[in-house]
Amino acid sequence: MTGLEKYRWDLVNCERCSMCKWVHPWKTQSHRFAKVCPSVSKYLFDAYSAQGRFDVIRGLLEGEIEVTDKVLEVIYACTLCGGCDVTCKFSRDMEPLEILHQIRIELVKSGKGPLPGHKAALDSIKNYDNPWMQPRTRRSNWARKLKAKDLTKEKAKILYYAGCTYSYNPDLQIVAQNTLSLLLKSGLDIGVLGNKEICCASPVLKVGEEDLYHDFAKKNIQTFNELGVDMVITSCSGCFGIFTNHYPEIGKMNFEVVQGVQLLEKLINEGKINFRKKVPMTVTWHDPCHMGRGGEPQNIWNGTRTKWGLSDPPRKRNFGANGVYDAPRNILNAIPGIKLAEMERIREYSWCCGAGGGVKSAFPEFANWSARERIEEAKSTGAEALVTACPWCELNLGEGVKADGDKIKMLSLINIVTEALGE
Ligand code: SF4
Ligand code: SF4
Repeated sequence: MTGLEKYRWDLVNCERCSMCKWVHPWKTQSHRFAKVCPSVSKYLFDAYSAQGRFDVIRGLLEGEIEVTDKVLEVIYACTLCGGCDVTCKFSRDMEPLEILHQIRIELVKSGKGPLPGHKAALDSIKNYDNPWMQPRTRRSNWARKLKAKDLTKEKAKILYYAGCTYSYNPDLQIVAQNTLSLLLKSGLDIGVLGNKEICCASPVLKVGEEDLYHDFAKKNIQTFNELGVDMVITSCSGCFGIFTNHYPEIGKMNFEVVQGVQLLEKLINEGKINFRKKVPMTVTWHDPCHMGRGGEPQNIWNGTRTKWGLSDPPRKRNFGANGVYDAPRNILNAIPGIKLAEMERIREYSWCCGAGGGVKSAFPEFANWSARERIEEAKSTGAEALVTACPWCELNLGEGVKADGDKIKMLSLINIVTEALGE
C-alpha cells in the first residue's frame, strides 16, 4: 500500500467532522435532500462515508487490518462521485477523492481488486476497446448516414468523440447522431475516428486498473495529437471528466477538450443555432458528476504536506465549482417554452445518479437506490422531465424512471434542442 503513503497526513488528520456526508449547510434547503454521499446514505454505517473509509484505509496502511470481503465492499460500494471532496475542501483540505481512487489502485496491485462484477466490462475493454462486448467493426454504425469527415483519411479542426455508450447503445445512439448532425449543420470543420475510436478508459481507472488505463490514455492522447485537431468534443460526461481531469497527468495534450453542451451554448450565442419550435414543458436538470465537479480542470500538483498539513509548494484547491454548470442551464432557458425548475442538490452539490465508479456492475441494487433518490428529488420540483447529458446517468436514471411507472420523462438535452429546431 505504498502509494497511500503520500496521503498519510490526510488519513491521520481528517477531523472526522462528517461534513463529507452532507451538502454544505449554506446550500442545504431541506433535511430530505441534505445528504450528498449516496454510499453512507444507503448503507448507513460510517465506514461507507469518506471519513469512515479514511479509518479503514489508514488501518490498511498501518497493517492493523487486512483486506477482507467486507473491506472490498466498503471500498468499492462508492460511486467516486466526489461529493465528499467538495464538502471536505470547503471546511478542511483533505483529498478524499484522490484517496478513494488510490486505494483501488493499491487493491488491484495487491491482487485483491477489482470485484468479480467488474470483470466482464474490463475483459470487453481489453478485447474489443469498449465495455459493451461489441465488435470494433460496429463502432461507427451510428454515424453511417452523417457526412462527417473520416479523420483517419483526412484532416479537420475538430474531432467528435462519441464514446462507447453513445456509439453502441441502440437507444442512445440518437444523442451522438443529433449532436454531430447539429455541429455539421453549423458549418464546423468536424470529423470522427470511425472504428478506430477506442474507449476513454474511465471505467478502467475507476475500478483501479491503473496500468490498463495508462495504455488507453496514452494511445488516445497520441492519436488525438497526431490528428492535429484543435478541439475534441465529447457528448459523454464520463469521457469529458477523464479527458479533463485525469489525462493531463498522462501526457501533453495539444488540443482543447469541450463538452458538447459548451459548444452548443456558444453556437446559440453566436446565432448559429436558432430555435423555431416551442417545447412547452417544465424540466429539471441533473448535473452529471463528471461534467460538474469532476469536469473541473485539474490542478496538477506534485508536492508534499508540511508537518502542519500545509502544501509545499502551495497548491490551488479544486472546489468543484468550476465544472460545466451554466451551459446546460443557459441552453434550456434559451429554448422557447421550456421552464427550468431546479432540484435542491445542484451544481457541485449534485446527488450522483448512482451508476459511477463501477457501482452499476458490482452493486446494481445500490445504483438503483441512488437513482430512486434522485428521481424523488426531480419529481418534487413538479417537472415533467428529468434532463441530462451523460449516457450513464441516462441509463441508470432512465431505468429508475421506468421502475417508478414513468411518472417523469428521462430526456437527453440534445434531443430537446433538436426538437426545438423544428426541422
Ligand atoms: S469532511 Fe474531510 S476532514 Fe471532515 S470527516 Fe470528511 S474527510 Fe475528514
Ligand atoms: S465519492 Fe461519493 S459515494 Fe464515495 S464517499 Fe464520496 S460522496 Fe460518498
